[in-house]
Amino acid sequence: MTQLAFSSLKLHADLLKNLSSLGYEVMTPIQAQSLPHILAGKDVIAQGQTGSGKTAAFGLGLLEKLEVKRFRIQSLVLCPTRELADQVAKEIRRLARSIHNIKTLTLCGGMPFGPQVGSLEHGAHIIVGTPGRIEEHLRKGTLKLNDLKILVLDEADRMLEMGFQSALDAIIEQTPEQRQTLLFSATFPDQIKSITSRIMLDPVQVAVTSTHDDTSIEQHFYKVDDDEQRMTALRLLLLQHSPESAVVFCNTKRETQDVADELADYGFSVLALHGDLEQRDRDQTLVRFANKSAAVLVATDVAARGLDIDALDLVINYHIARDTEVHTHRIGRTGRAGSKGVACSIYSDKEHYKVALLGDYLDRIIESEPLPPRSLLDESPRQPSMTTIQIDGGKKQKIRPGDILGALTGKNGITGKQVGKIHIFENWAYVAIDHKVINPALKKLVDGKLKGRSFRVRQLRG
Ligand code: AMP
Repeated sequence: MTQLAFSSLKLHADLLKNLSSLGYEVMTPIQAQSLPHILAGKDVIAQGQTGSGKTAAFGLGLLEKLEVKRFRIQSLVLCPTRELADQVAKEIRRLARSIHNIKTLTLCGGMPFGPQVGSLEHGAHIIVGTPGRIEEHLRKGTLKLNDLKILVLDEADRMLEMGFQSALDAIIEQTPEQRQTLLFSATFPDQIKSITSRIMLDPVQVAVTSTHDDTSIEQHFYKVDDDEQRMTALRLLLLQHSPESAVVFCNTKRETQDVADELADYGFSVLALHGDLEQRDRDQTLVRFANKSAAVLVATDVAARGLDIDALDLVINYHIARDTEVHTHRIGRTGRAGSKGVACSIYSDKEHYKVALLGDYLDRIIESEPLPPRSLLDESPRQPSMTTIQIDGGKKQKIRPGDILGALTGKNGITGKQVGKIHIFENWAYVAIDHKVINPALKKLVDGKLKGRSFRVRQLRG
């Protein structure tokens, strides 16, 4: 593939300079295909997955078109989950850091409404949010989109799967007809096709084939006879690969919880992530997996959206995904950033047709491989290197990462190297600690103060 430099595009000099400081030298395929059309003001439908660089594709489009001096909402990005919205806003801010005074605001459900109203009163150029909450702001008149120039639907298929169709319709109705609409989706079910024909004007469609994924990911397939063998196969594969971070995909919420519970019984460090969790538990699970306090995450496809992990060592499909595109999307989460990923799929006779379809798609004959030797079942599963401490104080109490790091590392404390990722939420915070020093770390936090106050702290287990 020819590699195209960003400098071949008509982009602001400031944006270009920043891109090279971010280490973005050449465009990813989705950027190379969509950006010229986006910059030309066309409506664009792009098939792109997390990891393809799609955020920068639309983000650069938004930033290039933005009139910074007009302090009005000029772009709206809709995302299916808060986690994705946060990631998108973060990437846009990174791309925008060479231009002064660009204000990007996130408006997501699961967060208090009042402070969002306050932020909106201060104004913004770019809004990133989830459809339910954006609709609520529009309904209450706290958000107006009269000056909108660009609307982005990110992961449109997931938004529809999550039941956001009517919220999307209500939002789109409040946007000016004269706008540019960009739609990104990993899959193209009929529902998406009907949306695009309703809301887009003469769109250009770009698709990036996933040949790259297919070759940089090692795919293995294992046939089993029944559910008991399926669980044994899962245990064997986890023991063989001994991953630091692995995701096991299940097709239903119920199965997700059952599989996680069973793995926990066998001594695996595992967490379940599915739609039945409260937002707070969901955040906590994502944090603990991302900060390496849990080695295995069992998840449904929808719940795994927004998972912000640089490199998964292993993806396991406990069942084959319902279609080929979902499969490709799942396995695309392993081996990012140039490292080779491993994906293992377990299937039974009943799923044979799905395997055959996958084989057609991958253009290879899929054959079951022998499972790892059963003797592995005697080995202990890998335990995570980190443990998470929860602190009952967060943004509202003005706690910042530096405060927590400072409190842990002072006199009689632990070293900075023993402190992992720190995540701060509204009213609480999480910090990952090397599990070897968990006791001194806890003691230091319990005895010490943060911002001059004592906060309740506890170690998260199980
Ligand atoms: P995304 O698919 O938008 O989630 O992006 C995946 C990752 O690729 C992000 O961490 C981006 O910062 C990074 N990225 C996006 N575009 C480029 C590029 N042209 N060169 C290098 N990295 C990139």
